[in-house]
Amino acid sequence: MIINLVHGLSTRALKTLKKRLSLLFAGARLETARDRILVTRFETGKMADAAAAAGNLPGVAGSELACGELYPLVTRTKGLSLPARPLDFVKNPFIFIAGPCAVESEKIYLASALALKKAGAHALRAAIFKPRSSPYAFQGIGFGGLSVIAKAKKLTGLPLVTEATDTRQLEKLSGAVDVIQIGARNMRNYELLKETGRSGMPALLKRAMRSTLREWLLSAEYLLKYGCKTLILCERGDSVFSGDRAGLDLKIMRQAKADCGLPVLADPSHSSKSRALVEAFSLKAAMAGADGLLIEASVSPETALVDGAQTIDLPAFSALVKKISKLHGS
Ligand code: PEP
Ligand code: MN
Repeated sequence: MIINLVHGLSTRALKTLKKRLSLLFAGARLETARDRILVTRFETGKMADAAAAAGNLPGVAGSELACGELYPLVTRTKGLSLPARPLDFVKNPFIFIAGPCAVESEKIYLASALALKKAGAHALRAAIFKPRSSPYAFQGIGFGGLSVIAKAKKLTGLPLVTEATDTRQLEKLSGAVDVIQIGARNMRNYELLKETGRSGMPALLKRAMRSTLREWLLSAEYLLKYGCKTLILCERGDSVFSGDRAGLDLKIMRQAKADCGLPVLADPSHSSKSRALVEAFSLKAAMAGADGLLIEASVSPETALVDGAQTIDLPAFSALVKKISKLHGS
């Protein structure tokens, strides 16, 4: 950690500050270099609070924590091979997690699941709880949908990815699905992150709207710290400029990939909000190094209660899988 000092600090003030810092960072090594102090060999778990306390001391202009100090567990995944289960990122250079935005009718969901499997999907979106901006909008079919998604799993053999919107859903969901999705709105729901970690379930963490890389990876750190062993990240986009939720941030996606060894997916559906743009967004993400897509696709987008306008149909999904496979030379 680096502590930046106020410019032109007197020798006396510096001496007092160093004394205070050595108490605050007891046991650490402190090295002064011009207008900064480098703190090393300090317990990672105490770093955040000590850095905040140091920021209050007279003579301190600010502090900078290294990635390994901010999110050590996330950083430690760097160089590790990508997890093989329940999604085989080793065997498949590009993973498709596909399905309607929400599970609605059993008939459409099962028909979609079978057709998506045939077209090349590696896992199914299986959302039965939907976080909606309006309390009057369809909130998902809830636990009543467990039997539907179980049938889809049995029919296709594909793993299920489902969003948990509340800690109270975790126990039942853990017994029924393969990956717990933490949606963009809940990226900052720290109790949900802790409980999902404790459940030991593989997790998929979306980046929240308007969140920084640092916030995103800190949320990933929560999951890992509380017990998650298999974690997938997903860039879902937003746009500060247009004020809507569209716009894939490929820079942040690439930086996340550079800072850790976790697989990073892109969501071309929620980031484009338009079926006409889904293929372009998907290809862009694939070319920028995404490890796969979380994508809305169904045999009947036109009847969907949620996100139909950004859901692609089966011919479009099939064509996209072929184009991306060509990009990856398979
Ligand atoms: C979703 O993937 O179903 C979803 C709700 O997306 P987001 O959390 O990114 O809005
Ligand atoms: Mn959706």
